[in-house]
Amino acid sequence: MTFESLGLAPALLRALSEQGYTTPTPIQTQAIPLVLAGHDLLGGAQTGTGKTAAFGLPLLNHLSKQTAANGSRKPRALVLVPTRELAVQVNDNIRSYGKHLRLNFGTIFGGAGMGPQVDMLRRGVDVLVATPGRLIDHLERGTAKLDGIEILVLDEADRMLDMGFLPAIKRILGKVPAQRQTLLFSATFEAQLKQLALQFMRDPKQVQV
Ligand code: AMP
Repeated sequence: MTFESLGLAPALLRALSEQGYTTPTPIQTQAIPLVLAGHDLLGGAQTGTGKTAAFGLPLLNHLSKQTAANGSRKPRALVLVPTRELAVQVNDNIRSYGKHLRLNFGTIFGGAGMGPQVDMLRRGVDVLVATPGRLIDHLERGTAKLDGIEILVLDEADRMLDMGFLPAIKRILGKVPAQRQTLLFSATFEAQLKQLALQFMRDPKQVQV
C-alpha cells in the first residue's frame, strides 16, 4: 500500500515524501479512503499508530479541493483535543503535512493569554486545533465562529470525557453546522462515548487497529 494509491493530492504526497513517510500505517490505510469518500468515522486507535495523519491528511485533502463556501476566513476544520500538549503536537503535524497548501493553521488552548489567540482568529485560520474549555471562552466572547466548519475531529475523545469536557463538547457540537463531516478517534469506547457518537454522527464507518 502506498500514499499515492490512497488518492491524496500531489501537494500532500510531496510533503509526506519530504518527511520520509513511505508507507501508510494500518489506521491510515483504513481511515483515509473512508474520510476522502465523505463518511463520518469512528476510529479506534491509540497514540503512536499514526492517527493524526489518518485524519489530518484527508482533512487537508478536502480543504485543498474546495474553497470556502462563504469566502470568509472562518475556520473550516476544527480538531478538538484534550490537552495543550496534544494541541501543539497535532497542529505541528497537520501544518507539516499541509506545508505546500495555501492554508492557515491556528491553535487555542488554556493557560496561555487570550490576546494572541484573538489576533490569530481575527487574521483568519482554515484549520483550528483547540482544547474544549478555551474554545468555549472564545465562543462566549464572540472571538471564534464555528459556522464555517466543514470537518470536525474529536481526537482522544475518551480522554476528553475523562477530563470532564462532555458539557463543553456538547456546546461546541451545537455551534457547528449540522451539515459537516465528523471524525472521532479514541483508544476506548465506553457507553457514554458511544451515545455521544450516536447522537452527533451520521451513519459512521468504524475502523479499529
Ligand atoms: P501519532 O499516532 O499520530 O501520534 O503518530 C505517531 C508518530 O508516527 C508521529 O511522530 C508521526 O510523525 C509518525 N508517523 C505517522 N504516520 C507515519 C508513516 N506513515 N510513516 C512514518 N511515520 C509516521
